[in-house]
Amino acid sequence: APFRPVDLHELLDSTLTMLDHSLAGVDVVRRYAPDLPPVPVYAAELNQVWTNLVENAAQAMGGTGTLTVTTRRVDDRAEVEIADTGPGIPDDVRPRIFEPFFTTKPVGQGTGLGLDISWRIVVNKHHGDLTVTSVPGDTRFFVHLPLEAAPT
Ligand code: ADP
Ligand code: MG
Repeated sequence: APFRPVDLHELLDSTLTMLDHSLAGVDVVRRYAPDLPPVPVYAAELNQVWTNLVENAAQAMGGTGTLTVTTRRVDDRAEVEIADTGPGIPDDVRPRIFEPFFTTKPVGQGTGLGLDISWRIVVNKHHGDLTVTSVPGDTRFFVHLPLEAAPT
């Protein structure tokens, strides 16, 4: 897929539609910045990132809670925040979540590759940033993407 400027909100909406079934019982709130410019990205790869972050949030909440997807323009970057009201990431788990094959899910439910792949797509492929904050009831993943970027 080519590297080209895209409307991030369209990508996020298509992910939310695709995962509609996994989000049954969850309130989905969109807070989209009306002035967010198109962002130059590899759309197909970035969709894997949204898919994994939303699936993780849905699994953490187990059918009740609120998923909030927020976009902002922060200086020369676009920020996407994916927040859930699930139990949070315990302090002893948190340092390991980006490691390949690290999962706390039962066998067959998680490969432990989602955040490793997401990291590589955001950081290595887009020169962006992927960070997390988590307390019980409020877990937020932040993706930053440069607004001016060259393809990798
Ligand atoms: P997988 O989803 O296959 O377990 P990931 O790399 O996507 O692998 O996530 C690794 C681990 O990070 C998960 O098993 C879970 O322990 C933790 N995690 C990720 N997102 C969340 C979240 N939103 N809430 C709580 N824990 C999370
Ligand atoms: Mg996952």
